[in-house]
Amino acid sequence: MQHFPIFLDLRGRIALVLGTGEVAARKAEPLRQAGAEIRLAARFDPALLEGCAIAIGADAELPDLEALAEACRARGIPVNVVDKPALCTALMPAIIDRDPMTIAVSTGGAAPVLARQVRQRIEAAVPPAIGRVAALAERCKALVRRRLPDLVARRRFLDAALTGPAADLAMAGRDAEADAALARALDAADAAPPGIVHLVGAGPGAGDLLTLRALRLLGEADVIVHDRLGTEEVLDLARRDAERIFVGKSRANHCLRQEEINALLVRLAREGKRVVRLKGGDPLVFGRGGEEAEALAAAGIACEVVPGVTAALACAAGAGIPLTHREAARAVTFVTGHRRDGRVDVSGLVVPGQTLAIYMGITMLREIRDGLVAQGMDPRIPAAVVERGGTSRQRVLRGTLEEVAATAQAWVEGGPALLLVGEAVGRGTPAWAALPLAA
Ligand code: SAH
Repeated sequence: MQHFPIFLDLRGRIALVLGTGEVAARKAEPLRQAGAEIRLAARFDPALLEGCAIAIGADAELPDLEALAEACRARGIPVNVVDKPALCTALMPAIIDRDPMTIAVSTGGAAPVLARQVRQRIEAAVPPAIGRVAALAERCKALVRRRLPDLVARRRFLDAALTGPAADLAMAGRDAEADAALARALDAADAAPPGIVHLVGAGPGAGDLLTLRALRLLGEADVIVHDRLGTEEVLDLARRDAERIFVGKSRANHCLRQEEINALLVRLAREGKRVVRLKGGDPLVFGRGGEEAEALAAAGIACEVVPGVTAALACAAGAGIPLTHREAARAVTFVTGHRRDGRVDVSGLVVPGQTLAIYMGITMLREIRDGLVAQGMDPRIPAAVVERGGTSRQRVLRGTLEEVAATAQAWVEGGPALLLVGEAVGRGTPAWAALPLAA
């Protein structure tokens, strides 16, 4: 983050605007709307900064603007000089005014045009009357706090109330009715509704490969229980103040045992929390989602599974590899390279016209190859290893099964990697591979 956004209370405070032309007038206007008293001057004089909360350099002469910037810096007064980023300590954002809500957009000076475009999109998406909903919340704040002292219960109530009938009435300008509707909703609010656990698939780790449902639930969760650190980009999309619990279940690093994770989920839900159990890929594909769902069912806790893009699909799309192909593969098998006892078991996997997507297969890659070849697979069959598939750091290694098995272990960089084997693997073309959009 290049600049820290902050909202200034300028009511009754002085804002210096240096310049007297059209630019100065344009810059002064939003400051005036925010309640500032504008001090306009054509030339700089240090005395002008007396009592100032903010200063804007507009269409004055360069030496005056430089003197202004330096004096402000020395006094710790935020200063913005139009079109002179080197002289600024504060940037003027594009503003969406939904009083008392304010939305500000900045590109850090890189592309003000882009900021304006984003502003237009937000203008369209956030109804002008949303401010009335914020005002409703403000009016009822003390009442809601008194009736629902518990933070989690209060937040859940407001989540529903601020998109419900009370909000509609507020947006329609019917404030008294809105207040009454909110009070009625408060009467009906059960202070301790039972919690729920959503087993949510995070996909391969790119934020824009999440489902919309997953995104919504991440925005509503009280607690997020997550595995790998590779899901940071997805976690960034979650509600800022949601509690995050890392249970670190990667193969080599069992932070919590599965039973402990199950017990944690049950406990959190019993506390009445909305829990998102975030899992890489899809929760039900080698994710132990089934075990967690069983434990929750046994404890009588509501559970919902939200599917995610599993590694095989993300890797195939990202590397431009078809999993099925009318001439080369009529089936695709998702299989793990490990048995529970750590041994490799490839029995029944050598079937013509089938693509194998082998999860957790890299450490035992040579044993997997040996097993497949022993069962009659041609070692020259096309294969690929895709590391961090579907993310912007994706890497792909292609070759025959023989070649890939010989080199992949040295080639991987430590990210999760999937092995694909089959005639169809040789058919694809990187040209139609999904573009990794996320940074
Ligand atoms: N539930 C997950 C799989 C968990 S098992 C899913 O549906 O994708 C963990 C294994 O998945 C890793 O060892 C690796 O083989 C594979 N994997 C997960 N994410 C991956 C990614 N982004 N790229 C390649 N393989 C991945």
